[in-house]
Formats: sequence, structure tokens, C-alpha cells
Amino acid sequence: MAQATVTLPETALPARARLPIQAATRQAVARDFGSPVIETIRQQGYRYRVGRLAFHLAREFGFCYGVDDALDLAYEARSRFDSRTIYLTGEMIHNPMVNHRLAALGIRRLDNVAQVTPQDVVVIPAFGLPVADLAHLRDTGCTIIDTTCGSVVHVWKRVERYARDGFTTIIHGKPDHEETIATRSQVTSVPGGRYVTVRDLAEAERLASVIAGDLPAAALRDLFARAASPGFDPATDLEKIGLANQTTMLAGESLAIAERLRAAMVARYGEDEVPFRFRSFDTICSATQARQDAIAELLAFPLDLMLVVGGYNSSNTSHLCELASAVCPTYHIATPDCILSADLIRHQPAFQAREMETRGWLPQGEIAIGLTSGASTPERSLGEVVLRLVQVAKETLPSAWATLDEPGARQAQTRLSPPVA
Ligand code: SF4
Repeated sequence: MAQATVTLPETALPARARLPIQAATRQAVARDFGSPVIETIRQQGYRYRVGRLAFHLAREFGFCYGVDDALDLAYEARSRFDSRTIYLTGEMIHNPMVNHRLAALGIRRLDNVAQVTPQDVVVIPAFGLPVADLAHLRDTGCTIIDTTCGSVVHVWKRVERYARDGFTTIIHGKPDHEETIATRSQVTSVPGGRYVTVRDLAEAERLASVIAGDLPAAALRDLFARAASPGFDPATDLEKIGLANQTTMLAGESLAIAERLRAAMVARYGEDEVPFRFRSFDTICSATQARQDAIAELLAFPLDLMLVVGGYNSSNTSHLCELASAVCPTYHIATPDCILSADLIRHQPAFQAREMETRGWLPQGEIAIGLTSGASTPERSLGEVVLRLVQVAKETLPSAWATLDEPGARQAQTRLSPPVA
């Protein structure tokens, strides 16, 4: 687990609060989100068989260092400021179980920074917060517990440098994702700072065509209107560009976007000009990269199906689903309850923003099931998925799990409802 300290760039909040994490806080987080079931599988070499079900666990999955830190700090804040109102500026992470748990602890979702008083405590999630909102919070004099992930801060430093050097930042990210919103605010906090956000390679391709002169700028009016800095002028604002990613994007796609935009700059200005007009740094975080690498390693094994567990609006979880779906039948489920029966599963297909139900998803006979979860998914949630699978397949729960004394496992087992016929 990464060292849990308050992290924020000096530029954003000079007066950093530091909040040492007590042992009891770490224990509470482990109790609420850990899973002895998953720990058992890990200790068995990430492979475990229950009857006809062979579970294959990715070597890297679940909470990343940024989420670990953020939860430690949120729990610590609740413990230390038990008589004060504690707000969270949005979702802590994109996972329903975690957000419900924080709500149960009395940590409230902040709808508007204007409602904060000096007596309040405000927790900023690992995604970060837009510059203007942070400045407003500082002005109120409230206590700020900033859990902005160091990897996000790394991106901020990159884009701030681009802006200071007169480069327009091209952000590969989801325009409405909290992290991307915070990152672009870092760009515009520099006078004259400009950005364009591209969601994927297809949007980058269109942007590259405009840069190369193969498409008129008018062809991208929609993109510039919804995903570019105010007053963006494609005639002058694409002469020098620097790339950055939302930290949880697909690494391969970010690389392809960088290559495509570089080629466009070469086509427009010539190779000799590129060092003066094009910059690119990989800002995918190491935790995201490790989870993408681990699923690629897992998929080298012949699997009958893959289960990816995590919130549907979790960027890194969705990308794991996309990677797996190219290789084997893959089901991205938000919670263990999505496994309705051995016949029916509720899931969100790759590249689609809608939940659906699929019948006949669990094959008969001996099967190899791949398991992974996004950086915002607690191990307990994955452990409950395993228990749910054992139940719907009508296999016998291993005695090692049936006798587990950990609260997470007890709850996971008692929550199991009878299989749907
Ligand atoms: S996914 Fe990466 S950038 Fe985001 S919180 Fe986790 S470690 Fe930090």
C-alpha cells in the first residue's frame, strides 16, 4: 500500500494539510474492502479450482495506490473530525460499493463549493479538483483533505509547462471525466493556455487531418465547440501542440494518437520543425499500465470467459473490458448482484454505454474463468463475485472459505441470495 499522505502540488495549495494515518484507520479500510477469498486465490498462485470452475486471477487488479491513499485519508478524516460536517467533492472513486460505504460513514457529497463553511472538512478525491473550485475552498478557510493522486499531479505539471511554453495541450481523455476537467483547468489557469480533448483515436484522426490540411477546420466545429478551451482558434492554436493523457486511458491508444498527430505535424511543417512544435509524454499512470499488462498476460491463457468487475463509469475498468473482449467472451459487471443466475447476467458490453442482460453466459462443464477488477474496485467486491459464481454453479463452497472469520467474507456469504432459477 502506498504511503498515505495528503498530496497536492505546491502551486495548487501551498498550505498542505498532512494527516498521519492511524493503524486503526488502516484496519478499518482493510476490514471494509479486503477479501479473504481473494487473498486465498492470490496465495495459491492466482489460480483456484472449485469443482468445475477454475478461477484465474490477474496478477494486478483492484485498488491502485491512489485509491488506497484516498480511502485512508477519508477514513482518517472521519475518525479525527467526528463532530464536523465532512464533504466529498464528487464521487471518491467510480465504484458504487465504496461510495455507499463513505455515505454510510456520514461523508456527504458536495454539490456546490459555495455551500461550504469554515467549520467544514472537505475531502478532494484522487481525481483532483478544478483550480477555481480549489481556490474557492481555500478562501472559505475550511479544512481541506486533498487526496489528489501524485500521478494526476504529474500530468498537471506537464500541461502547465505546455501552456507556459505556448503549446496547446491535446488531452486524450473523456471530456466529462473529473480528472480531465481538473487537468484542463490547470491549462487555462496559465494565461493564454489552450486545450483540445480527444476521446479516442477516431477524434484524434479528424484533428490530425485538420492539422495536416486535409480537412477544413470547419469539419471539426463540433469538437472545438464542446471539447476545446474557450475562444479556441484552429487556425492559430494548432501550430504547437503537446500531448497528455487522462491517466486511465488505454496506453496503446494514447501511443497511436501521439504517432498520428506527430505525423500530421510533419506533413504540415516538415520533420525539421517537429522538435519545436510537437511534444508528447506518456502520462498513463503505472497502476493503470500494470492492470492493462496483467490482463494481457492473463488472456494468453485459454479462458472460456472473463469477468471484469467495477463501476460502469470507471474509465480504467471499461478499458480492461475492451482489452479482454477482443479475446474471449467478456462481462463487465458493476457488482456481484449482476450475476443473476447460471443462465442470466447483467453487464455492460465493451464500447457501449448501456447495461444489458445476456442469457446462456456460463458454459456447461469444466470452465476457465478469468477475473480482474479496475483500480476503483474493492477486493471484497471481487471476492463476492467468486462466491456468487460458486453458488450459481451449485458447487460446494470450499471449507477454507466457509469458515473464514473476516467480516468481509462473512458479509459476502450472508449477502448471497438463492440462485435465480
Ligand atoms: S488510477 Fe492511477 S492516477 Fe488514478 S488514482 Fe489510481 S494510481 Fe492515481
